[in-house]
Amino acid sequence: MSLQAGRMEKAPILTACGTMGGRRLTCQTTAERLMRPDIEYRQQRSCQMKLAFTMDDLPLWPQSYPPTGYCAAGIVRSIREALATHGISGVYAFCNSWPLAEHPDCAAILEDWVNDGHHVANHTHAHRQLPDVTADAFIADIAEAERLLAPWLTRAPMRLFRHPLCHWGETQDKLDRVNAYLEAERWIPVDVTSWTYEWAWNRAYLRATEAGDTRAREFVIESFLDFAVAQHRHDHAAAQAWFGEEIVGIALGHNVAFFADVASDYFGKLIEAGVTFVPLSEALRPPVQPAVGSVVSDRFLVLQQKLAAAAGAPTAQIAPEHQDTYARIVQMAQGDRR
Ligand SMILES: [Zn+2]
Repeated sequence: MSLQAGRMEKAPILTACGTMGGRRLTCQTTAERLMRPDIEYRQQRSCQMKLAFTMDDLPLWPQSYPPTGYCAAGIVRSIREALATHGISGVYAFCNSWPLAEHPDCAAILEDWVNDGHHVANHTHAHRQLPDVTADAFIADIAEAERLLAPWLTRAPMRLFRHPLCHWGETQDKLDRVNAYLEAERWIPVDVTSWTYEWAWNRAYLRATEAGDTRAREFVIESFLDFAVAQHRHDHAAAQAWFGEEIVGIALGHNVAFFADVASDYFGKLIEAGVTFVPLSEALRPPVQPAVGSVVSDRFLVLQQKLAAAAGAPTAQIAPEHQDTYARIVQMAQGDRR
């Protein structure tokens, strides 16, 4: 297991933020399990997996701060280095602007991100979730983010937006009003077809690290890398089953300490497993893109799961062969290291 050097650096907690310290992949079984009755899934023993990797919540995880031994700038720097190591460029980071108002030094994190050839997109100012606020308040949060993120948004080739927690609106009225605003302001809404629940692994990792439990910490790392490959395959097969054709997936990572530490191994393992990382523009096409924001949904689900749930045919969120591992990680995240 090789992890990136430089983690757990002895830097202040928020150095940059001011005051606070083409291989083939086997997917037949999953595809069969998730087959939608009215779609004939092309049975095959393998499937190509193209992924557009994206980040959420730069420059700083919403309303929280990095754990002891990490800083916001260091976490993002480790992820940038991992992307560079594996030749993954032009990654869109969906950003919240609230840290810029409270910690102006966070601007350097976005500046470094863009100077690496990556891009910034709108993820609202305060990361308010649409079900928690009125449509007007939500729209105002998008506009405020546009104002504060303008120095970096204007340098991106595409004008992209992502809903916090990928909630599209819990009522038809909210969904319609936000969609109308996004269209009028030429924001392209971008969803996610696969995430790896690294926030749960992050909590388990920090618990194990704080306890000095080396064995638990190694389990967290190793299990994540295996899980990530399986979960991306699971989600990819489900999306292809839903849409009935080959799609380019959209993956998501967050700037949490754990992901910073394993990012290089994560990208390397996926490439070794046959994933090809492609520009996000390749994923924003029919039939996937027109489905974004197409149904009322306040569920924290990836795109095809929201569509399936709205159609009354919910699908498995976690790769079936890794459900026990995921449950174990959730236990460890809650402090159980047995
Ligand atoms: Zn977010």
